Order: sequence, then structure tokens, then C-alpha cells
Amino acid sequence: MQALVKTKAGPGLELREVPRPAIGINDVLVRVRKTGICGTDLHIESWDPWAATAIKPPLIVGHEFVGEIVEVGSNVADFHPGEIVSGEGHVTCGRCRHCLAGRRHLCANTIGLGVGRDGAFAEYVVLPMTNIWHHWPGIDDEVAAIFDPFGNAVHTALAFNVLGEDVLVSGAGPIGLMATAVAKHAGARYVVVSEPNAYRRNLATKMGATVAVDPGERDLHDVQRELGMVEGFDVALEMSGNAAALRSAIDNMAHGGGVAILGIPTAEISLDVNAIVFKMLTLRGIYGREMYETWYKMSVMLQSGLDIRPAITHRFSYRDHEAAFAAARSGDSGKVIMDWRA
Ligand code: NAD
Ligand code: ZN
Repeated sequence: MQALVKTKAGPGLELREVPRPAIGINDVLVRVRKTGICGTDLHIESWDPWAATAIKPPLIVGHEFVGEIVEVGSNVADFHPGEIVSGEGHVTCGRCRHCLAGRRHLCANTIGLGVGRDGAFAEYVVLPMTNIWHHWPGIDDEVAAIFDPFGNAVHTALAFNVLGEDVLVSGAGPIGLMATAVAKHAGARYVVVSEPNAYRRNLATKMGATVAVDPGERDLHDVQRELGMVEGFDVALEMSGNAAALRSAIDNMAHGGGVAILGIPTAEISLDVNAIVFKMLTLRGIYGREMYETWYKMSVMLQSGLDIRPAITHRFSYRDHEAAFAAARSGDSGKVIMDWRA
């Protein structure tokens, strides 16, 4: 099969012919249709300091996908060839305290698809049956391909109550864009998006943002005043990984507010702990998706009218993976999809 492989330590990826993965008795083999490119894939491609420590080549990269089941292991009863599925990219240990209690998203021994084991940028991918999500009827192919980051957006946006609340989204990358639509769908009054990139601010407006502002040009206190907000933001979704963005969010929170932090900074961030204490804020880290509560909510919200398709801006064949990665890296893009059918 064709696969996009990190063949050796250093920058770049190679499209290669590799053996189709073998399946164990608890595994599901999926013929991949479409994949989404994530920031993680860009880090692995460019071989940044994180990738140099985390990745052991050779490795097939990629973890956002949709495909069709072609084979299941002898122990697998609930999935069948022909079913349209995506994969939960966090393969958990199944034995730790949290896994045993059914809180698998809290597993401390997670192995990432396309990070710690061969991934989905290939014609076929294999996963344990516990990591397979069978899509509900009528799902759009491209939306199904990005259930993994959509799940990050939903997990973060629903970490605190947003119904009737004012929400700040810091960072309008693909996940911030989807979270904007989710917060609106879930009943937020105002969703203010802070994003330096003009292309992404424009997309944020399409996703339902009340207003999208450039943090270099607008102070969020002024934006609050213009909207007639008097208490501050009730909920902030930190989706940039940027230190100034997190500080600004804390500075603009209402008393008792919640800050859900998904963005991954590249260095330590110093924070005004006095503001956190005296505003009685809750800061909550978000990693991955809840298995499978988040997946259930994603499916239900799509059926009740949530539309995340405007966040998908570019489509390529897997053969044009270099152009696809360049589009994802440019910043002037939302989600970038690669099609794996010949
Ligand atoms: P992305 O890098 O495409 O988007 C980040 C956005 O933040 C960019 O558009 C950037 O212009 C913007 N930004 C930069 N400085 C800013 C500032 N001062 N204020 C506001 N916005 C600013 O990333 P993404 O794919 O949308 O992911 C969002 C974040 O979540 C990233 O940090 C990513 O590493 C992280 N992530 C976390 C998890 C998890 O499980 N915790 C999973 C996936 C991604
Ligand atoms: Zn575990």
C-alpha cells in the first residue's frame, strides 16, 4: 500500500510502498478514504525539537481519518466490513485506574496514532476495536475525516456551561474555528474570537463568531464595552498556545469564569495568579476527547444542525501531500483534507 512515512530522523516525509498492516484478533483494518492534516503532522514533518524526542522512525504519520472497514479480527463482534468509521487517535492502556473506571481519556499511558504507532496517512490503517467509532447514517465524508480535531473542539467548548454565556475563543486555527460554531450551537450569547490572521478571522465570522478581532489591534476590554458586556467573559477557550493570549483571557474573565486550555505552548508561561484567585477562576486542561461521550455529542450536534464544513478550506490527493502540507502550514487555511482513494 501507499503510505506517507517519516523514514529517518530529520525533516521531510516520503510517499512509499509499504506492506499492508497485519491485524490481531482485537483489531479492525480500515481502507482509508480521507484524512485531515493536524499541527502534530506538521511538527513531525518539519522535525522540530518535540518531534525529535517523541518520534521513532520509521513511522507512518497521520491520525485524522475516515474509511471503510475491510477486515476485523476473530474477537471482534461489533464491527463489520463495509461500515464507515473513524478512529480515536489515543490508544489507551486499558489497565490503569482511570481506564478500569471507564475514564479512558485520563489514561496516563496513551499511545498516539501516527505518533507512537503507525498512523492513517496510508491506504490502510489498523486500530484496536476499542478505538473505532462507527459513524451514524448520513455523515459527510469530509466532516467524518476530521472527527478527531472536531472532538478536541467539542471537548473544550463544552468543558464549561456556555448556554446563555459570553465566550472568548483565543486562536482561530481549525480547532478554534470549529469550537466557535460549537459554542454558538450550544447557546452562547456572544462568541468573541481573537486571532491575528485575517484569513482565519474571516473564517471565524463564517463559523458564527459575533466578532473576530486582531489581538494586536484591539483590546478585548474595548470589545466587551462595544458589545455592552459588563461582567467579563464567562468562558474562555484557549486554542492558540500563545502566552499573551492566555494572559489576555485571564485578564478579561468575569468572576467565577472558566478557562479551558487546549492550546499547547512551546515554553512555560507566567500567569497573574492573583487574578485567578481573586476572580475565583477555574483553569482546566483539555487533552484529546472523552471516549466516547465527546464522539456521541459530535454526532448529535451534527444531526441537530451544527455545520463545521466552512472550516474545511483545502482538498488534495495524497499524491500532492507536499502542497497539502504547505497549505496547512501557511496559516491561510482552515482544515486541509487529503483524499486516499486512487
Ligand atoms: P493552529 O496552530 O492552526 O491555530 C492556532 C491559532 O492561534 C493560529 O491561527 C494563530 O494565528 C493563533 N494565534 C497566535 N497568537 C495568538 C494570539 N496572541 N491570540 C490569539 N490567537 C493567536 O492550531 P489548531 O490545530 O487549531 O490547534 C489549536 C491548539 O491546540 C494548538 O496549540 C495545538 O497544538 C493544540 N492542540 C491540542 C490538543 C490537545 O489534545 N490538547 C489537540 C490538538 C491540538
Ligand atoms: Zn490507562
